Amino acid sequence: MADVKITSLHKHYGEVHAVRGIDLAIRDGEFTVLVGPSGCGKSTLLRMIAGLESVDSGTIEVGGQVVNDMRPRDRDVAMVFQDYALYPHMSVASNIGFGLMARKLAKPEIEARVGKAAAMLGIGHLLERYPRQLSGGQRQRVAIGRAIVRNPRIFLFDEPLSNLDAQLRDEMRGEIKRLHQDISTTMIYVTHDQVEAMTLADRIVLLKDGVIEQQGSPLELFEQPRTRFVAGFLGSPRMSFVPARMVGGGGAAGVDLGNGIVMPWPQGRSSGAENGQEIELGLRPEHIRRATAATPAPGIVRRPVQVDLVQPTGSRTYITFDLGKTPVMAEVAAHDAHQHGEEIPLDFDLNRAVLIDPQSGLVLSSRAPSPGQRTATS
Ligand code: ADP
Repeated sequence: MADVKITSLHKHYGEVHAVRGIDLAIRDGEFTVLVGPSGCGKSTLLRMIAGLESVDSGTIEVGGQVVNDMRPRDRDVAMVFQDYALYPHMSVASNIGFGLMARKLAKPEIEARVGKAAAMLGIGHLLERYPRQLSGGQRQRVAIGRAIVRNPRIFLFDEPLSNLDAQLRDEMRGEIKRLHQDISTTMIYVTHDQVEAMTLADRIVLLKDGVIEQQGSPLELFEQPRTRFVAGFLGSPRMSFVPARMVGGGGAAGVDLGNGIVMPWPQGRSSGAENGQEIELGLRPEHIRRATAATPAPGIVRRPVQVDLVQPTGSRTYITFDLGKTPVMAEVAAHDAHQHGEEIPLDFDLNRAVLIDPQSGLVLSSRAPSPGQRTATS
């Protein structure tokens, strides 16, 4: 168990400045997910913590000790890779226990640790098999088992589920989360998949172009994004961004979407934008519902729309329609919409929408009131 402190960390590969001044404090026992688009530097950062990449400048501390120049094997961290990296000619038991054998632990001790890890991962019955006789999910469990038996101070995961099919990925995701609940060791996990980041993390660190764009708990980032990039990266289907102009002010401000559509901005919530300012209105699919109540609650704007695309998922239906001139997606109940061309009334929850400055990409509007506060006032 250990905390990790990273200060002013930089890494270049020739002309490429892959990590550009990262400061990060990870608490002991925390599950941190490094997420961001391909090439944002997340693997480089993880590999620097593991000791597989050198540091150009800055420091990495593990458990209060600077490890910059320490060899990977002396750092007491275990890494799980995307491609499992199992020895094909060794049994599952030997693959899991290999590191312990190399450290010359007594055989009964190795067997006990391997047995315990295998049982934890539900592969106790596969110990005599060889990697080629295992499914992808079982192979990844073996790789995780090999990390567990080492009892490291920190677990590092580099896209461990990317080679698995969708169903197995969901299952393994749950198992990794359970593993963390059971052993409470510090875990740092790299993925480009925002669903993995949201579901696994105590804390998400969202990277862009080698710097931290925003970090916080999954719901903090989801509900209070500081930038358009964060708002658009987290959430599936993603947020729609509609070009607009702020009109009026004080208690009578509105969002002018063109084509004569002006949506009143909720009273008592700061828009952060001035009269006449160009903005973007950010709406998540779940901020838009089919109208049902007789009168909409405060901050909710009701409008009829003409449905363009209907995409049922079974539990919910996603519809796409034009707002102003921009296609926008809404998440409605399974039977709320049926076909292209249909007209239905929608409720837009501007209490939860965000307003963005298109020039800087910064979110302007004040944080959305929590659902509890909304009910109290509506
Ligand atoms: P991510 O894991 O977020 O996809 P990486 O950390 O792998 O990103 O890469 C960050 C940047 O550094 C990218 O532009 C990538 O091309 C570059 N890069 C990574 N590894 C190397 C390397 N060994 N040599 C040269 N460039 C590299």
